[in-house]
Amino acid sequence: MNETNTAADEASSPLGGLTIDFSADGGSKAPAGGSFGFSPIAIESGAVAAPGGPSSQSARGGRTHTKLLVIGSGPAGLTAAIYGARANLEPVVLAGSAPGGQLMITSDVENYPGFPDGIQGPDLMALFRAQAERFGTHIEDVDVDRVDLTGRPFHAWARGVEYTAEAVIVATGASALWLGIESETRLRGRGVSACATCDGFFFRDKEIAVVGGGDTAFEEALFLTRFATKVHMLHRRESFRASKIMQDRAVAHPKIDIHPNIVVEEVLGEHHVEALQLRNTASGEVDRMDVQGLFIAIGYKPNTQIFGGWLDIDPMGYLVVRDETGSKIDGVFIAGDVHDHRYRQAVTAAGDGSKAAIDAERWLESQGVTEASTATAW
Ligand SMILES: Cc1cc2nc3c(=O)[nH]c(=O)nc-3n(C[C@H](O)[C@H](O)[C@H](O)COP(=O)(O)OP(=O)(O)OC[C@H]3O[C@@H](n4cnc5c(N)ncnc54)[C@H](O)[C@@H]3O)c2cc1C
Repeated sequence: MNETNTAADEASSPLGGLTIDFSADGGSKAPAGGSFGFSPIAIESGAVAAPGGPSSQSARGGRTHTKLLVIGSGPAGLTAAIYGARANLEPVVLAGSAPGGQLMITSDVENYPGFPDGIQGPDLMALFRAQAERFGTHIEDVDVDRVDLTGRPFHAWARGVEYTAEAVIVATGASALWLGIESETRLRGRGVSACATCDGFFFRDKEIAVVGGGDTAFEEALFLTRFATKVHMLHRRESFRASKIMQDRAVAHPKIDIHPNIVVEEVLGEHHVEALQLRNTASGEVDRMDVQGLFIAIGYKPNTQIFGGWLDIDPMGYLVVRDETGSKIDGVFIAGDVHDHRYRQAVTAAGDGSKAAIDAERWLESQGVTEASTATAW
């Protein structure tokens, strides 16, 4: 189990383009609905385009030179693409190996405006993608391995193909850290979550567990007390890294029980979470805890590795923005969870994507790029 609070998948799209696995049951993230043997313990504390020239084609036939290159295809990247395409920037999106981003691994999304009955995460991202493609965005589901952001044109390489662009929007997001056990993956969206703000509502009157020992875990546990009847905090160590004030609040809360020296070995349940198999790291004792939900709050890993040396990265691993969506390099913009560890929501990431595209369009205009098309139809 990798614990850090520092920085911290796919259904056949009815809309085309996306390869999504609708294997999620399409049902609720919420559980269907304990006893626990450990006593709660109080805690102490390719083809190269000519720069600025006409568009080039990759071996796969897509564009390799564009006015606007978007790296990442979550809510931030695809919203940037929609705005960029509608501003005639003919965007190319390098979508990464997780096209659609984090919402592809969740089921019900009930807080994205415009969907009063809620929508499945993969369905929402299929709509984002279809809307971006409708206005001429070209999308390649490839990971960028390397960038050169020295200046216009900017360069990015993916699977041996070189892409060049007059402006770049970085929207590579952040990946939630998971325990790494098969049963956890199988029950994601069926009682297992990594986002209390997103999914807490589904656990009204349920008994749940939160894994983690940092401030994020304590914040999530305290938030979840609004819905759950009982919140068990599970931490593999004796002491917690969270601030004393957060720990004190949790200890004082009647709905929170704190269990140090505990690891989750298995998430039990066929179609939804029914219980956890736990092991006490001090005594070796194995026991079962009946819960209907499991929140993993062990941190996020921002996807910033390829930008090291080019863009400023804060001590938690997130990109540093200047003036809303800018970076230290003129013409390189940043949007979404790759910099935002405060809100981490689809709607805020999408809002960021729109801002980044508007900023990129204005910057390109200031550079005299917008009027002269550098890309032709593909
Ligand atoms: C389990 C879970 C449930 C959630 N539920 C909700 C919810 O109900 N409502 C809500 O508002 N929010 C929810 N969220 C949060 C929401 O998913 C994120 O805030 C949002 O997806 C962030 O969007 P983003 O575009 O910034 O990044 P992401 O969605 O993380 O997308 C990042 C993109 O970058 C790509 N990428 C990464 N590295 C590279 C690379 N090297 N080259 C090319 N591409 C790359 C990835 O493939 C991906 O497409 C949930 C999150 C989780 C983990």
